[in-house]
Amino acid sequence: MTLNGTNISDLHCCAVTGDGCDVLTARAHADFERASQSAFQRDRERIVQARAFRRLAGKTQVFTSRASDHFRSRLTHTIEVAQIARSVGQSLGLNGGLAEALALVHDIGHPPFGHAGERALDECLQRHGLRFDHNLHALRIVEHFELRYAAHRGLNLTLGVREGIVKHSRDYSAGQHPELAGYLLDRRPPLEAQIIDLADEIAYLAADLDDGVESGLLDIDHIREHVDLLADCYARVEREHAGVEAKFLFSEALQRMQDILTDDLISTTLANARANGIDSLEAVRAHPARLAAFSALAESQRQQEKRYLYETLYTCRELSLEHEKAEQVVATLFDFWIDEPRELPVGYVEQIETEGLARVVADYIAGMTDSFILLQYAQVKRSVRR
Ligand code: MG
Repeated sequence: MTLNGTNISDLHCCAVTGDGCDVLTARAHADFERASQSAFQRDRERIVQARAFRRLAGKTQVFTSRASDHFRSRLTHTIEVAQIARSVGQSLGLNGGLAEALALVHDIGHPPFGHAGERALDECLQRHGLRFDHNLHALRIVEHFELRYAAHRGLNLTLGVREGIVKHSRDYSAGQHPELAGYLLDRRPPLEAQIIDLADEIAYLAADLDDGVESGLLDIDHIREHVDLLADCYARVEREHAGVEAKFLFSEALQRMQDILTDDLISTTLANARANGIDSLEAVRAHPARLAAFSALAESQRQQEKRYLYETLYTCRELSLEHEKAEQVVATLFDFWIDEPRELPVGYVEQIETEGLARVVADYIAGMTDSFILLQYAQVKRSVRR
């Protein structure tokens, strides 16, 4: 397979296979493995069958209450990330099973109401000397909360998938997080994990413009004036399809924008690996920086678009009102269960002794879908009024 005249299956030598694979397919508990299925494909199956994965369907990506059947949920966003990661991973000759499992699990630790819910939960926990972090919460979900198997708690995922969860979009220091010492914090993650963060960006940059226009909060012409990459794609589509309605040109332009960023990620990552003489998984791990990246031009276009989304969509008045309401719901319920821990479900009450009340309340809230937390909120409001 070639891209821009370059053979792009060269990074097969850096894929998680062979010796490196033996370590990364290790599980915390001895487990049944099917001969016809790789360990990472097995992980993918377990992730898709997890309750926390199904609940992503009811969790906000960007929009909570504005009415449309077409907005992304955290689940559909996850599926979009998985298809980009699979295509990038395949083009680079990486381990597709690992890349796909990592994409499917990358947002499993998100609480209801998107980033507003995460912020609110973090603020509540800070009052108790703790923090909420969706990567670390994802690790708690796959290691402890999913109760589906006879022999162990959690999904018993491979080390490779758990390491990818820990290293999604940030690097933790062993000094601050001694509990993560087993995850090789001083080493770079495999390329399969590195591409997930950027596949995530490619997916949401297009999706949030799309949903933003669908919501009526963004305007196609305004986007074209301020987002260069989209403007270029739109101009090209418009030249090829004169007279076609703007909404179709826009959606075609979004697709091209995704294609450009995806191809850029593939060719830049390959070029970075070549320029640094990277020829093995060990060399990927030992390299001082992550190798998966966009080119300088694509990176500046990405940053411009991200700034635009922050300033024009994520912090606009309408969404700020949604966020305030979401924060109030989370904070009210958090305080209620801190005061009335016996009102928690029995399984959570049992964990208070080992985990501490504040962490248990946060765990309970973080697992909820948007509709379930609103139901809880209405019930608590009614019981307080009585
Ligand atoms: Mg994501």
